[in-house]
Amino acid sequence: MPSYTPVDFDYHSPTSIEETIELLSSKEEPVILAGGQSLMTLLKLRILRPKNVIDIGKIPSLRNVVEEEGELRIGATATHVTIASSPLIGSKCGLLSSSAKTVADVQVRNRGTIGGSVSLADPSANYLPVLAALDATIVVQGPRGTRKISSKDFFIDAYTTELAKDEVVKEVRIKYNKNMGYSFKKVVRREQEYAVVNVAAVVSLDEDGRIREAKVGVGGLSGKPIKIRELEETLVGKTAEAIESAVSSLDFKVRPISDVRATGDFRVYLARIYLKRALKEAYANARGAMV
Ligand SMILES: Cc1cc2nc3c(=O)[nH]c(=O)nc-3n(C[C@H](O)[C@H](O)[C@H](O)COP(=O)(O)OP(=O)(O)OC[C@H]3O[C@@H](n4cnc5c(N)ncnc54)[C@H](O)[C@@H]3O)c2cc1C
Repeated sequence: MPSYTPVDFDYHSPTSIEETIELLSSKEEPVILAGGQSLMTLLKLRILRPKNVIDIGKIPSLRNVVEEEGELRIGATATHVTIASSPLIGSKCGLLSSSAKTVADVQVRNRGTIGGSVSLADPSANYLPVLAALDATIVVQGPRGTRKISSKDFFIDAYTTELAKDEVVKEVRIKYNKNMGYSFKKVVRREQEYAVVNVAAVVSLDEDGRIREAKVGVGGLSGKPIKIRELEETLVGKTAEAIESAVSSLDFKVRPISDVRATGDFRVYLARIYLKRALKEAYANARGAMV
């Protein structure tokens, strides 16, 4: 009979990042609690059996969403609802807001956080292709100081990141050109589920309607989100007509996940279709923004 209650642990509620790092370094078998949306299940099923749970929900600075030095800085405990409804994120990076709006259901969006999502690194999580496409930076802090890690290096494989056991994710930083058109596509079997595949695309155009810059990320296809630089480079200088053939001939260069949600081949098939749709929509939105 499986257990549905966590093992006994000590609960800590630090009010600063420094205190959190001190607890992570000094306490036996610690684990960070953000919104608890994934952690509570892992605790209840006793997949994790920590001796100390460190709740970072009472650290005000971790909830901040600000724009500084031309980039968006989103605190680790900003919830999906905050990200979906923030006027600042909406105006500077609609792609991120758009991806936050379709995370699970309203209860999960109310509690779940961006820091928890990137730390967990579920390959089907909504933010991952967005962060890959936009070359986001994950800022982490630990006893050895602060590290700024590109999303390319942060995500290693499914549920595996560059984060060390004694480090905490502090914020996610995104540089964004608001004149870009964007599109986020999430393919689900049922409403409110994790994605089978999800795609993020952004496009900016020159005065002649040719693609000046394209950024593309795909999640759910392999253990970590992929940025498709080859496609981004191919599309520069082209119009929307080039999208169809560029994506058709694309080699994703990954070993796709095969699981209960979909086979690897079907994932590749879906990724191709939704990549075309996302790029065409992003192109149309960029064109609309020029008028
Ligand atoms: C029913 C359900 C459906 C879901 N569907 C989707 C979906 O469609 N799309 C999607 O993207 N996500 C989905 N999620 C995931 C959800 O949105 C949360 O992002 C995710 O569960 C993390 O939750 P949390 O922020 O509460 O973190 P927690 O559950 O508290 O923590 C998750 C893990 O991250 C670690 N952690 C948390 N914060 C930090 C930090 N700042 N630094 C270091 N480590 C940290 C914890 O120790 C733990 O290991 C779903 C979750 C549920 C329960």
